[in-house]
Amino acid sequence: MISLFPCLNDNYGFLLVEPDSGLCATIDTPDGAEIDKQLQKRGLTLTHILNTHHHFDHVGGNLFLKEKYGATIVGPKRDAARIPGIDIGLADGDILPFGAYDIQVMDTPGHTLGHCAYYVPDEASVFVGDTIFVMGCGRLFEGTPAQMFDSMAKLAALPKDTKIYCAHEYTLSNAAFAVTVEPDNQDLHRAISMAKTLRDKNQPTVPTTIGTELKTNPFMRAETAAILSNIRMDKDRF
Ligand SMILES: [Zn+2]
Repeated sequence: MISLFPCLNDNYGFLLVEPDSGLCATIDTPDGAEIDKQLQKRGLTLTHILNTHHHFDHVGGNLFLKEKYGATIVGPKRDAARIPGIDIGLADGDILPFGAYDIQVMDTPGHTLGHCAYYVPDEASVFVGDTIFVMGCGRLFEGTPAQMFDSMAKLAALPKDTKIYCAHEYTLSNAAFAVTVEPDNQDLHRAISMAKTLRDKNQPTVPTTIGTELKTNPFMRAETAAILSNIRMDKDRF
């Protein structure tokens, strides 16, 4: 079971519960007090903190929640030194046992050098931190474009119905860019109009799916002919 709730200005908080064992994880800790409130509202005891990367709006509540609940903190091994309170460093291909669930760890560097995504096949869901956003991708603070491209390709290979839980509500600003790159993409226009309807009602546009992003996200479609031509990177230019 996955719950989503807004945190800070434009972050999302997520709680993942494995019902048989009652294990409960928060994915990142944008706002310790808000996550605590959401846990109490649902009568949940936090057992795990799954960090995607070291930015403060993802680890800011780590120590408060660890202190209060004794939760185990896991995060990218490569950036362990920058993850407050980390207990276990994880790397690509590691499996995190979580009750009846096996959570698969994927290294997705680009936004930061150490960045993990957590794929939960039993929930057909992946928590991608700041790697993929609806119709966009994370800013390259530390990694290279090639690293981000590879990370997105890795995520794109997941089953198409996999839900993508991105960590920010950036959809409408991403849409404004996406439409300039691929103005004739009807799937994109449909997705933008659905996103506007949701945002008008103050509803989240997250989660999206791998299948939807493959049809609409310019960074996951970077090799399509229309995009290469529109941004003038088609073969003739080389
Ligand atoms: Zn970040």
